[in-house]
Amino acid sequence: MNRGEVQYSAYTSNPLGSSISVLNLAEVVNEKVDASSIGMGGDSYLQVLCRQSFPGPLTSGSLGVKELNRWIDESIMNYRKGEILRLLLSLLKIACQYYGKPPFGSDATLKTPIVHGMDPVTPRFTAPAKRLVLLIADGLRADKFFEPDSDGNYRAPFLRSVIKERGRWGVSHARPPTESRPGHVAIIAGFYEDPSAVTKGWKANPVEFDSVFNRSRHTFAFGSPDIVPIFCSALPHSTWNSYPHEYEDFATDASFLDEWSLDQFQNLLNRSNEDANLKQLLHQDNLVIFLHLLGCDSNGHAHRPYSSIYLNNVRVVDRIAERVYDLIQNYFKDNLTAYVFTADHGMSDKGSHGDGHPSNTDTPLVAWGAGVRYPVPVSHNHHSENIVLFVDKHMHDMPTPPEWGLDGIERLDVNQADIAPLMSTLLGLPCPVNSVGNLPLGYVSFREVEEVEAVLANTRQILNQFLRKSQLKESNSLHFKPFKPLANYSWVLDQIEYLISVRDYEAAKNLSENLRSLALEGLHYFQTYDWLMLMTLISLGYVGWMIYLILHVLQSYTLLPVNFFEKEQVVNLRNNSGKVYVAGCLFMGLVCILLLVEHSPLLYHAYFAMTILLWTQIFSEYQFIKALWRDMQRREIHYFIKLIATCIVSVFVLEILVKSFMERKLYTWCFLFVGVTASIYLFYLIPWRSGVPIFVWLSCWFLSIFTLMPAEIPDNTPLVVASGFLIIVIGGVARYVNKHAGDSRYWLSLTRDMKKSKFPMLFQLQILLVGFSSMMVSLSTSHRTEKQELLVLHQVINWLIAGFSMVLPLFSAVGLLSRLTSIFLGFAPAFLLLSIGYEAVFYSALALALVAWILFENAILCTSKVNRSPTSINAMEDNIIVAHDDRQLQLSDMRIPLAFMVFFNIAFFGTGNFASIASFEISSVYRFITIFSPFLMAALLIFKLLIPFILVICAFSAITKLIQVPLLGCYFLVICCSDVMTIHFFFLVRNTGSWMEIGNSISHFGIMSAQVVFVLLLFALTNVYTKDIQPRSRKQFTRKAM
Ligand SMILES: [Zn+2]
Ligand SMILES: [Zn+2]
Repeated sequence: MNRGEVQYSAYTSNPLGSSISVLNLAEVVNEKVDASSIGMGGDSYLQVLCRQSFPGPLTSGSLGVKELNRWIDESIMNYRKGEILRLLLSLLKIACQYYGKPPFGSDATLKTPIVHGMDPVTPRFTAPAKRLVLLIADGLRADKFFEPDSDGNYRAPFLRSVIKERGRWGVSHARPPTESRPGHVAIIAGFYEDPSAVTKGWKANPVEFDSVFNRSRHTFAFGSPDIVPIFCSALPHSTWNSYPHEYEDFATDASFLDEWSLDQFQNLLNRSNEDANLKQLLHQDNLVIFLHLLGCDSNGHAHRPYSSIYLNNVRVVDRIAERVYDLIQNYFKDNLTAYVFTADHGMSDKGSHGDGHPSNTDTPLVAWGAGVRYPVPVSHNHHSENIVLFVDKHMHDMPTPPEWGLDGIERLDVNQADIAPLMSTLLGLPCPVNSVGNLPLGYVSFREVEEVEAVLANTRQILNQFLRKSQLKESNSLHFKPFKPLANYSWVLDQIEYLISVRDYEAAKNLSENLRSLALEGLHYFQTYDWLMLMTLISLGYVGWMIYLILHVLQSYTLLPVNFFEKEQVVNLRNNSGKVYVAGCLFMGLVCILLLVEHSPLLYHAYFAMTILLWTQIFSEYQFIKALWRDMQRREIHYFIKLIATCIVSVFVLEILVKSFMERKLYTWCFLFVGVTASIYLFYLIPWRSGVPIFVWLSCWFLSIFTLMPAEIPDNTPLVVASGFLIIVIGGVARYVNKHAGDSRYWLSLTRDMKKSKFPMLFQLQILLVGFSSMMVSLSTSHRTEKQELLVLHQVINWLIAGFSMVLPLFSAVGLLSRLTSIFLGFAPAFLLLSIGYEAVFYSALALALVAWILFENAILCTSKVNRSPTSINAMEDNIIVAHDDRQLQLSDMRIPLAFMVFFNIAFFGTGNFASIASFEISSVYRFITIFSPFLMAALLIFKLLIPFILVICAFSAITKLIQVPLLGCYFLVICCSDVMTIHFFFLVRNTGSWMEIGNSISHFGIMSAQVVFVLLLFALTNVYTKDIQPRSRKQFTRKAM
């Protein structure tokens, strides 16, 4: 367990919410005092904050984050001299830790922070059921459960007969993230976990919470090792068992996992015939029996929900429900058992789950037995009353499809967390104290007085949570704004009691239902309490970050500062800025004390620290800003026109990129347009090379096809194999051009190898590996479809080919074209083996378009070189240009980061529409693994995503080398560009609408904020491949020209 996890668990399970974080902050402050003098205090405070781990999806246990952190740490150490760089890297590290934690995405609305210290509310009615059977079919989606198969037979005959004759049914709406752990927590404990809980999905409980199982006398649970221990491992009054993880090998039919759970339960009943204690226990009241049925989930992942194996598993689940029912009826013979059958989440057509698509959120719910109402024929005026609303006004309005054949029977939809109070009520137990579920009254068969009591108990339990939260907030805030609508709650409670005593049950029920929804609103109010402040703070932070970056780029990578000041003056300025730092530190200290008094989360400190630090840095450059302003006033009008035009074009391109998140097809239009304009432009620029414009034109149009393809990639193995040969052809042509392009001015800087490769046969070996990998694609796929398994031999060969070929580019010749070709061929085998359809061709198309980009830049370079070289020589004479011979950035260089942004984003969108990682085709990893291991699978999927980015970044690095601009300066401009987009997405984040929209808006924001980090990470990775590239330097060229 690393430090971050310890802190997280301590932080959230603490009854007082955040007092532990005060300790951490004290640590921070102490370290700060130790570490630094006041002059560089801000910087070090940040450094110390860096060392803290914050709860976030990218922290504890997430893939690659440790590597990333280590890399950044090392860089921070290496940049000892450059204060500014060190600072930027520290900021970046904090950004990494916050990735995916938009302040109100997780902390304020989607998270239900658990408060402790509430008393359970014991209901005042006799329990209708002595025991409850909970059956959860993991990954069973509603439509596959209710609809008939192609022959018109229903797949779940037993449960249908229950729906028609003796129970109630509906659709239970799960909430994203639609993963197993949050789903089960919602059903059993009644609250929705923080989305970041997904990353903890396969670990034990980090936070203690109350559940229906907790409240029971005894719980019997059987099922998956990923689920059952979450609820039972710390529960003394439970009997549970789970199978070993190896059972979840998903290449075979997994329905035997369901049978396993049933067998365990059957054994238990059999054992009780000999074991008197067990028998006595089984006959007591308040028992919960939980069977977790994993088959549908495993089969859905492995074979997708349309497969016969998945659909057959629905039948298996139904038979198990029937057998459990028969077993219990025969064993107890008392009709005092209630049954609840549901699922934790659905399954998308691609065999994944996690996002807010209805195929993932809609799950079946069937309840019957003791205390459950009998079916009621549908009444039309009744319908509108039963629309389930949550505090965020999210509505479920899917009509019942006629083919379900359930039109005549009333359907009662619930939110997933409503199932917890339903189960508690059936057993007559207090609702779990952290539950936010509304008791679905339509399910229970009660007399009127009992109904009121049940609703009242549910209301009091939610109200207690609200009061506890309000109390915590009040004790911490300097200026507390209470939730006004609930100011007179005790009077309302008295009123309800009075109405019950005079037997006006209808009014009492209405009043307590109102009170309950007010209490839920109040909980929501406290979750969004600091919303406005955080919004402002973060916007300011982003704007400050951009201004700071621009200032930094202007200072370090342009000729501006030299124009402004004499050297001594610059030194003087640095000294003067000390006052600004002191002021900034004082201000931060003040804010820090305020936040400490308010017991704010550590996250707030970090937000404030970042924003204040950035603005302090900006203000400390006031001399430079002043000089910049004076300089601006001296400039001529055409300079401003150029500047404004550049800004407008940049924002326009970035806005197109923002829109492209909603509409992939935009890229098609973009590249159709760019293909034509760029080739016409080139045609006039380099009339002596007519082949280049045509190539640019064709490659852009080729790339434009892919964003028209369906986001869900259909299986097409022959296409993958064919694209292997396409890759070989491209490699061959590149090789030919490299050798035979001759000594022309245009090609010289691209093709010349400074020194020959040490391995002459390297190219042939790479071609061979690509061919071999496309053969393995067809071999292992055909074997898998025939035999339903992956040979170990195939698996080993695939790993070897992919791994070995990625090392080879390191040994290739260092000329620009030959190194890039080698990188292209080196990643091809891995990508082919991870491909299932047209995305394999996308790899070649992207590479061709990138080559077109390089050719375009080279053309501009060629034609402008003659004009530019005298100035650069002059500059060198003045000793202004630093030791390496990069030239300074100019306004027109803005096109490079912009083009990079476009390519980077199409590398995302070319092969799918990513609402979440879950929407990627999971079957693409089947050539590498067969055992269900989520982390390895996610790692492979992410790696597959990264490969196109690696190509883009290699091309980007090559271009900066080719035209000799500073890579880091360009990278800062890229960050600036992505910040413009991030701010836009930040304001697009919403917390109303369907789950799909909320989830997408948040993930867009998360993806955008992650992009900065991803780019940096990839720079670090690809630097290994690109650092040797040596295009002909300008010196040689100018010498030759002279
Ligand atoms: Zn699940
Ligand atoms: Zn699953």
